[in-house]
Amino acid sequence: MDDLQFGTRNKRGDWAPNAHLDVAPFWHRPFSIWKVLAWVPEYLFPWNAFHMATALLYWFYVVPDVEVMKTLSWGWALWLYAVNAAAIFVMYGAVELFWYVRRKQGTRFKYNAKFPSEQPSDVFWFKSQNIDNFLRSFFISIPLWTLVEVLFLHAFAAGYVPWLSWSDNPWYLAALVLLAPAIHEVHFFCIHRLIHTPLLYKWVHSVHHNSVNPSPWSSLSMHPVEGFLYHAVAFWHLVIPSNPIIAMFQLHIAGFGAVNGHIGFDKLEVTEGTAVDSHAYAHYLHHKYFEVNYGGDGLIPLDKWFGYWHDGSKEGEAMMQARFEKKKARMNAKAART
Ligand SMILES: [Zn+2]
Ligand SMILES: [Zn+2]
Repeated sequence: MDDLQFGTRNKRGDWAPNAHLDVAPFWHRPFSIWKVLAWVPEYLFPWNAFHMATALLYWFYVVPDVEVMKTLSWGWALWLYAVNAAAIFVMYGAVELFWYVRRKQGTRFKYNAKFPSEQPSDVFWFKSQNIDNFLRSFFISIPLWTLVEVLFLHAFAAGYVPWLSWSDNPWYLAALVLLAPAIHEVHFFCIHRLIHTPLLYKWVHSVHHNSVNPSPWSSLSMHPVEGFLYHAVAFWHLVIPSNPIIAMFQLHIAGFGAVNGHIGFDKLEVTEGTAVDSHAYAHYLHHKYFEVNYGGDGLIPLDKWFGYWHDGSKEGEAMMQARFEKKKARMNAKAART
């Protein structure tokens, strides 16, 4: 595909989309029901449908019997870890293998023309972003993902929390499924903004931001505090009356969905003329500029409401620069006082 029909490339070879990021259409004024209806397929497919499909596969083929889960034990916990690790290895690994190792698409639709393997840096374990990110994912974040999973499954199985059935609550549970991506955005925005406060940034979140030019393995490359808080989004289903399948869906939006922001390509070409939208640009801009786009890509536009939104346009850039100038002035004034 010709990526210059969809965007522009600068002198360094970095590609940027022509279309600017936009919040979900039900936030648009004047409100248009047609725009909302046109947006629904893009909301469901392919990503949220994929996360629901994996949640169902887990529920029917991976998750042990309820009787087993009434007791916490290493056996089923390690089994879940093994499946989570294998699934991430296959899913993230496939993107890595085809788009980053074999480079089937070259740099078409790639935001940053450079590939991480071309940029060794001292900030990473073994000076390699790939090795560092890979090890952190498999030995820190995926174990914590599994911990969250084991705890909520045990809570449902042991009867510590209500377990609503699909037959008694079909409409409520269906609504909760549709809301799960919004819960994800709000949870992610809150914990993410929190770990961008100066102390926590230094101790915790800087690990994730070492990858200024993210690739699939960067997705779950996190400090343990972040790795736990990020996946703990599934615990909301212990607070609101829910069902373990929806908690699993919520967890998969986080675990498998983390790759979306870190794919590095705006579109993944599947055949000559077809491509899948990655929805990666908002979070790519976050990795590039740090203090913009703490949430997702505008389902619940908290970034817009708090003034952190960068939509990729010149105006977005100017607003960000104005905010940075103000912050600099505030810090200079504070330094002068002390
Ligand atoms: Zn990130
Ligand atoms: Zn961040």
